[in-house]
Amino acid sequence: MTDVTDRQTQEIPTGLSRTGMTANALKAAISDHLLYSICRPAAVLTTQNYYTALALAVRDRLQGRWMPTTQTFLDLSKKVTCYLSAEFLMGPQLGNNLLNLGIEESAREALADLGQDLDAVLACEEEPGLGNGGLGRLAACYLDSLATLQRPSIGYGIRYEFGIFDQEIHEGWQIERTDNWLSSGNPWEVYKPDMNYSAGWAGHTEQYVDVAGHFRVRWVPGHVVKGVGYDTAVQGYGVPNCNTLTLWSARAIESFALEAFNTGDYYKAVEQEVTAETVTKVLYPNDEPEIGKRLRLAQQYFFVTCSLQDILRIHLEVAGRPLRELPDQWAVQLNDTHPSIAVAELMRLLVDEHHVHWDEAWDITVRTFGYTNHTLLPEALETWPLRLFDESLPRHLEIIYEINNHFLEQVRTRFPDDPDRVSRMSLIGEDGGKCVRMAHLATVGSHRINGVAALHSELLKASVLKDFYEMWPDRFGNITNGVTPRRFLALSNPGLRDLFNETIGDGWLTDLYKLRELEPYAEDPEFLKRWRAVKRANKSRLAEYVHTTTGIELDPTWMYDIQVKRIHEYKRQHLNALHIVTLYHRLKTQPGLVIPPRVFIFGGKAAPGYFMAKRIIKLITAIGATVNNDPDVNRFLRVVFLPNFNVKNAHLVYPAANLSEQISTAGKEASGTGNMKFMMNGALTVGTLDGANVEIREEAGAENFFLFGLTVEEVEQLQATGYRPADYIERNAELTAVLQLISDGTFTHGDTEILRPVLDSLVFHDPFLALADYASYIECQDRISRVWNDRDHWSKMSILNAARSGKFSSDRAIREYCDEIWNVGPMGVNL
Ligand SMILES: *Cc1c(COP(=O)(O)O)cnc(C)c1O
Repeated sequence: MTDVTDRQTQEIPTGLSRTGMTANALKAAISDHLLYSICRPAAVLTTQNYYTALALAVRDRLQGRWMPTTQTFLDLSKKVTCYLSAEFLMGPQLGNNLLNLGIEESAREALADLGQDLDAVLACEEEPGLGNGGLGRLAACYLDSLATLQRPSIGYGIRYEFGIFDQEIHEGWQIERTDNWLSSGNPWEVYKPDMNYSAGWAGHTEQYVDVAGHFRVRWVPGHVVKGVGYDTAVQGYGVPNCNTLTLWSARAIESFALEAFNTGDYYKAVEQEVTAETVTKVLYPNDEPEIGKRLRLAQQYFFVTCSLQDILRIHLEVAGRPLRELPDQWAVQLNDTHPSIAVAELMRLLVDEHHVHWDEAWDITVRTFGYTNHTLLPEALETWPLRLFDESLPRHLEIIYEINNHFLEQVRTRFPDDPDRVSRMSLIGEDGGKCVRMAHLATVGSHRINGVAALHSELLKASVLKDFYEMWPDRFGNITNGVTPRRFLALSNPGLRDLFNETIGDGWLTDLYKLRELEPYAEDPEFLKRWRAVKRANKSRLAEYVHTTTGIELDPTWMYDIQVKRIHEYKRQHLNALHIVTLYHRLKTQPGLVIPPRVFIFGGKAAPGYFMAKRIIKLITAIGATVNNDPDVNRFLRVVFLPNFNVKNAHLVYPAANLSEQISTAGKEASGTGNMKFMMNGALTVGTLDGANVEIREEAGAENFFLFGLTVEEVEQLQATGYRPADYIERNAELTAVLQLISDGTFTHGDTEILRPVLDSLVFHDPFLALADYASYIECQDRISRVWNDRDHWSKMSILNAARSGKFSSDRAIREYCDEIWNVGPMGVNL
């Protein structure tokens, strides 16, 4: 070690070990951090230590861009976007930062010089699982695009101590393990203890008259916690801009005049301080109704108030701007209703704390916020029981009543003699006891409301927000989701990146529409050969991972048919399972039958309290255990349930797919983003006309997309006239046989009870109409097998899919948000 540092002080001019981008400079920086930050002698250094050292060296380099970026926007000469999201599913940071800084190769060389392999070092990173799935990952993709498009922005969220649980599969069942992502430390975050705000909770309100004679209200919280900020750098690709993600963590507040202190109950006070920190303890699953309600509301309010106070501090104290300019300097986006309490909180801060007149405060609020809706599923629309809300946030409830009074007065004026409409639109619902409707609060408090795919935005206007659309048609729009091609193409599919770069240059990384230049190569035999070699290598890479995690061996020449996403009845993993059983049945009953061999790969977590989703996992693993070990069928079929699907292993999954399963019931999936990641990587989609599938098919061309199933209109009609699954079973002998196989215990060692709940739901009360789409799905899958047999044709289709995936870059989506909602332009940064 002394040797290394001696050489370093001789060779590297002062400061370069923090900024230099060459392999030599990085090597010196890693050695520096091993000595001064990791503090371990050379004899005991682990790969994990090298990971941390390289991460710290990279963070130093980010900081040289981060501080100038922050300094440049702090005067607010440019408008800033704030993306409020209860989830940011960022994924591993090191590889992405190396890519965006353009120093992947220098880092590889530096580590090699130190006897380390970059890939092994990258594998050490524990990803921050601070999100459930698509919604949290979307927020992360948007931060990447905001930085790359040089838009000044801050992401605000929650630093959960425990993120989404780790999933293990034991005997085919999901087991949850707590996610301890901070156990080895987090080199990317910078703790800012001086950046802290108070967040109240419960208590009561008081009215008073201030010295100027104005009537005022103050909230006297029952207790208060402190929110402290942890900042993470978000480096744009190929630009100096480096934005900020601020995540709030709850702490006990020191020496606050707690009631317990006043009454002398010291130990009760200490106890309360300990419980303060539970607010940001754990991320809740998004698809589990009625769990942890109170704490969830506490989390939402906590991160929202810290974020708004931070915005106001910068606006008033740092930039010295007047409050009325807030909407000119800041665009605050609500990622679903999770942060929608922000509407009431900004009103409280403006009216109660800054003594702004109500009407002006409301004008500021509405012009500041935009709201993105992510779901039409009624069970997923957030409402809070009135009593819980009143106990937790009494002042906010008063404010919501006041907003409601003003708002409903407007409704009555616009639509006289329509009391039904007034009660439908009220912020206070009567559905099963009085409640606060958060989607209504977000809608009323925002100047723009958008859905996340063309179809979804239309359905929003026609269903859950129809009344609001009729009131304010100009407020509604669509911005189809996107994903970042840096992470989901360049970083996770280096083989394809190189092929693209050599063929059309690297402009596609920042303008994904440029992939269209690949279209002519779909006919080029040389390109086709290299395209197939890349896909084959990606399939081998995934096969190796599958083998080490599950013990199952896969043949990379087989078709990889993949469905990875949260397990949910509306996403219909069980429909996919019915296809596998159909093929099993054919192979068993028709000896000598030859079919194109396929491996079915599933991945995804089920919410811990979602009974049916967990049974669907068991259905898949049970079929897998039978199929994989039956020599009659395992020459043609393999079934894998990949445990613990997350961003890190997603990097291996999407690039290896031949077929992407996007089979939700039409009208249920708002957009989907997994569908886009598959398309970019050249998978063909089998899908319904749902969410962004519609646009994927439009872009790819109908002839390059495998369509099946009922349309939204047909689904609605079937549900209106009465869906009778028995009709479909009686009409279809193959379906009858398939259900019989599951029912008689073929996949469960004769046990006829384990999978009964799944069967019963399919056969008796399935709101997602799986059996209604069965015949169409199987027919489509048979067509897919025939096309797969024509390998040149398949490759051509898959190249055209990748070449036409430009629309689904998050850069396109963020440009639309900036132009249509935020009015935020680019900001140059001088280093
Ligand atoms: C993209 C992504 C999702 C969303 O997948 P959908 O198919 O759109 O539901 C969920 N989880 C992870 C880890 C992802 O990367």
